[in-house]
Amino acid sequence: MSINGWRGKRIRFNLTKGTWDVEETPYEYRRKWLGGRGYNSEVLYNNVPVDVDPLSPENVVCLGVGPLSGTFGPSTGRVTVTAKSPLTGGFGDSNMGGHWGAELKYAGYEQIILTGKAPKPSYIWIDDDKIEIRDGSHIWGKFPRDADAIIKEELGDKDIHIVTIGPAGENLVRFACTFNDCYRAAGRTGHGAVIGSKNIKAIAVRGTSGVKIAKPEEYYKICSDWRETMRTDPMAQGLFNFGSLILIMPCNYEMGWFPWKNLKYGYHPDARNISGEVWAKKHLRHKEGCFSCAICCGIVSEVREGKYAGDYTGGPEYEAAVPTGPRVGIIDSETTLHNAMLTNNYGMDAIEAGASISWAMECWEHGLLTSKDTGGIDLTWGNQEAVEQLLHDMTYRKGFGDILADGPWRASMKLGLGEEYLTVTRGMSLPGDDPRGLGFGYGLSFAVGTRGGCDHLRSLCCLELSGYLYPGLNMKIVGTEECSKPLTTIGKPKMVYWEENQKAFVDCLQVCCFNTHWSYGCRNEHLIPMINAVTGLDFTEEELMTIGERIYNLERAYWSKMLSGKHEDTVPKRFTHEPMPENPAASSGKVLPLDEMLPEYYRLRQYEPETGFPGDKRLRELGLEDIAEELKPYRKKYIDLHEGKKGAKPQQQPKKGK
Ligand code: SF4
Repeated sequence: MSINGWRGKRIRFNLTKGTWDVEETPYEYRRKWLGGRGYNSEVLYNNVPVDVDPLSPENVVCLGVGPLSGTFGPSTGRVTVTAKSPLTGGFGDSNMGGHWGAELKYAGYEQIILTGKAPKPSYIWIDDDKIEIRDGSHIWGKFPRDADAIIKEELGDKDIHIVTIGPAGENLVRFACTFNDCYRAAGRTGHGAVIGSKNIKAIAVRGTSGVKIAKPEEYYKICSDWRETMRTDPMAQGLFNFGSLILIMPCNYEMGWFPWKNLKYGYHPDARNISGEVWAKKHLRHKEGCFSCAICCGIVSEVREGKYAGDYTGGPEYEAAVPTGPRVGIIDSETTLHNAMLTNNYGMDAIEAGASISWAMECWEHGLLTSKDTGGIDLTWGNQEAVEQLLHDMTYRKGFGDILADGPWRASMKLGLGEEYLTVTRGMSLPGDDPRGLGFGYGLSFAVGTRGGCDHLRSLCCLELSGYLYPGLNMKIVGTEECSKPLTTIGKPKMVYWEENQKAFVDCLQVCCFNTHWSYGCRNEHLIPMINAVTGLDFTEEELMTIGERIYNLERAYWSKMLSGKHEDTVPKRFTHEPMPENPAASSGKVLPLDEMLPEYYRLRQYEPETGFPGDKRLRELGLEDIAEELKPYRKKYIDLHEGKKGAKPQQQPKKGK
C-alpha cells in the first residue's frame, strides 16, 4: 500500500557500536500510535525499564514527528523529544518548534532513536539516506548558536537544520534542554543531559524529498481556511503582536498569578515593565516563526542600551522570561532578557533554572541557607550578581551551583532542608503559572500530569482561560459554560481529562498548541479532515481521542511501575494551603481546592481509587492488554508502600544526603 503523510521509517542508532538501522513502521503501528509523542512514548515505555539510570547508556532519546510534518499544514513544525528524565527519574518529554522536524521528514523519517553511548564527543549528520556519526570534539563546550554556525560552515550548507545541546547538557545538568535552529527549545525534563550523556552534541539534517498527500486540493482548502481563521482570531493576533509575554498584563493586574519570588506572590505593581506591549517597543529585533506557522509568535530580542547593550537571543517566551526575572525578584526587562540569553546559551531549561535559584533564595530569606552553604554568594531576592553566578556555576557544576544543577527537589533532599519552599510535583518544578490565580483546572493538571509539574505545553487547560472567546465550545466539550471561570471547580475534571487526551493526539500530529489550545481556532472538526486528506484514511474523532487516551495511560503506567500514583497526585502546599497574599486582582486570598476535583477526574479516567493506577478494564479497551498484565504486581507493592510495609520503597526518590 502506498503511504501518504507518513514516510514510514525511523532510524535507531546504537551509539556504542557506531551503527544504525533504518526500520519500517508498519500500518498497524502508525494507526495505533500516530507519530511524534505517540511513537516516542511507546518506545520509551517498551525499551527503558523503570530502574534504568537516566544518564546511563541504557536510556534512550527519541525525537519524533508525525504525518502532517513537512506539509503546508499550518503550524505543523513541532518535534517531540522523549527520554527517561534525569530530573524526575520518571517519564519525560518535551516539545519544540523550529524547522528541524520538517527537514527530518524530507530526509525520509518520522523518528530518530538514540541508544547507547558514543565513545567520544560526536555529532550525527543525516543527509537523506546518507548517515554519519562524525567527530564533535571541536564543538563540545560551544553554545548552541555557535555550534549551529560551525556545523553549517563545516557541511557547507547554511540551509540545513540542526538540533544541539549546550554546555549544560554536556555537564549533565539534570534540567539541560535541547534546541533546534539555535533558539527553539524543548525545555523540560532534562533530555539535553541524556543526549550529553551519550556524547552527542548535535543532529544535523538535510532532506530533499517531499511528503505525499492523498488529497492535495482538499488539504490545500482546509489549510487555507485555517490560515484565514487565524488572521482574525483574537488569541492568535495577540501572540503575533506581542508573543506569549502578552500574558503579563492580565496575569498580574486582572487575575493575580504573576510569579513573584518563587510563586509566593501573584502580583507586582511594576509587572508591566516586562509585558509584551513594552517588550515589543524596547526589545523586538525581528519576528521568527516556526515552519509553516499560521500565527508566528516567535521573536528575537535585543538590549539596546545600558549595561547589557548588545545582548540578543531568541524569544524569550513568557516561560523563559519569568523564571530568571520575577521568580527570583527581578522586574526590569534588560536584566530579564540578559538572563534568558544566558539560559539559552548554556542550554538549560529556564523554568527549572529559575526555580532552583528562587527556591534557594527563599531558603536564604528564612535563614536555612547562609553564605557558608553558598560559598559566599548572597542570595538576597533580586541579587543579579548571584543569579548570574549561579547560572554559570550550575552549568559548569561548580560550588553551590553543582548542588542546584540537580534541580531544587534533589538539592532539598541532599541538603536536608527547605522542603516547604519547593514548588515541585513529581520531581519537576511548576512553571510560572500559579493555579491560585490562573485557574483550578490548571492546578488539577499540574497534579496529575504524566511528566511531573506540567506546564503550558502539556495538558494545557486553556478552555478556562480563553474558552469563553469561542461561544458554545465549553458547552460542547464540558457540558457547561461555568467552567470558563478560572477560579471554580465546576467542570474542571472533565475539562482536564478532555484536554489531556486531545493534546496527546495533537502532539502526535505535531501541531502547535497555540492553534489548538490557547487559541481554539483549530479544533477537532478541522484536524480530522486534515489528517484524512493527508493520509487518505478514515480517522474519526473517537479514534483520535482514543489514541490520545492510550498514550496518556501508557505514560501514566510508566509512573505506576515507579510506584508513583494517587499519593503523588498533588501540588505543593503553597498552592493548596497558603492563601494567595492580598492583592488587587482576582486571586487575592485564594487557595487551590484540589481535593474537590480529584475523585471525579479519577472516575473519568477510570483510575483505581486505591492506587491511582490506570484501571485494568480501561487499559484493555485501549489495546494495552500487556500493560494491564504487567501492572498487576505493582498495585500490591504500591498499597504495601503506603501501608508502611517493610521492604516496599518507591523507585523515584533520591536518597537523603546523596
Ligand atoms: S505559534 Fe509560535 S511556537 Fe507555535 S509554531 Fe508558530 S511560531 Fe512556533
